[in-house]
Amino acid sequence: MDLATVNSPYFELLNESARRVVESGRYIGGDKIEQFNQQLSDICNAPYAIGVSNGLDALRLILEGYKHIGLLNEGDEVIVAGNTYIASILAITHAGLKPVLADPDVLTYNLSAKEIERNITPRTRAIMTVDLYGRINWDSDIRRISIDHNLLVIEDAAQAIGARSSTAGLFDSHLAGAIGHAGALSFYPTKNIGAIGDAGAVITHDKQLADAIRALANYGSDRRYHNIYAGFNCRLDPIQAAFLMVKLTDLNAVNERRRLRARTYDKGISNNLIIKPQIPNDCLEHVWHQYVIRIKEDRRDDFRQYLFNHGVATDIHYPVSIYNQPCYSSLSHPDLPITDNLPKEIISLPISDCTSINDINEISQIINDYK
Ligand SMILES: *Cc1c(COP(=O)(O)O)cnc(C)c1O
Repeated sequence: MDLATVNSPYFELLNESARRVVESGRYIGGDKIEQFNQQLSDICNAPYAIGVSNGLDALRLILEGYKHIGLLNEGDEVIVAGNTYIASILAITHAGLKPVLADPDVLTYNLSAKEIERNITPRTRAIMTVDLYGRINWDSDIRRISIDHNLLVIEDAAQAIGARSSTAGLFDSHLAGAIGHAGALSFYPTKNIGAIGDAGAVITHDKQLADAIRALANYGSDRRYHNIYAGFNCRLDPIQAAFLMVKLTDLNAVNERRRLRARTYDKGISNNLIIKPQIPNDCLEHVWHQYVIRIKEDRRDDFRQYLFNHGVATDIHYPVSIYNQPCYSSLSHPDLPITDNLPKEIISLPISDCTSINDINEISQIINDYK
């Protein structure tokens, strides 16, 4: 994925908006940040959006914020899918909470209501839903369970900006980031909407949490030289806010192009060795941050080499399960057969604007020729 190619349609506008920030003399906070937050709150249909330094910090601030307003306490359990990116788990452990890893559904790669319910204990206070690969992790069963068990729903929507759930979220918004009580977005450069560097955002329906997070992200200060919390510096740069305001105007077009690519793979790939990702009934639920196929473990590396030899770059999201990472070698977890197997079977195919529809048809043919 060549990020200069991805950003080339925006070069002129990005340069112009950077110049305006440079000349404004306002490099921390200010109007740009306010406008960006407003744009994001409109996009997600949620009352509070707070631009922050990156996606991991957004998740961390949500959990720390809930601790500071007394809704989470040290050692509380947070149910989360075992196959997520490590950042979801880092946020939970940084905040002194306990990640309870659960197996994803092998068709959606996301948590099912059944699996969430199976992992609820008297110490469960929250679920962290992860919209992995760009697919919303939400349905009426998950909604009901979170309400019945009085759980906080924290959405890791880092890969899913613009995805739209067919089931309304807890506060009626249908949009990624705004499904639960609070959600995190990432604008890491390779995400569907990427900054020119690091950036992220918190989305929430909870005013008290929003106030706590604004303070926490700014040294814990609620007004100048008055620190209510021992906070952090997790502010969003105005220059990144300006860049993102340019790119966010194209959000729906970006996601529609990815949907077209996913549909083209789905039509084009037909090989008994390959399991394609499920396309949700309501196609708006998926924004295809990744298009992930599966092949039996004993063929995967050979298949990947074959694609490479035919000029197709691939990646594995993610090659090592959380609990096999050195930093989490002592993390306790139940048997997770699906989480164990996925890293050995998955392959992510190219799906960004760098890959044309012709390329996708050609890649599909290469895949179909594999024996
Ligand atoms: C990218 C990502 C994050 C972290 O976002 P950063 O902006 O890179 O810190 C968190 N969770 C998931 C699922 C991600 O894909």
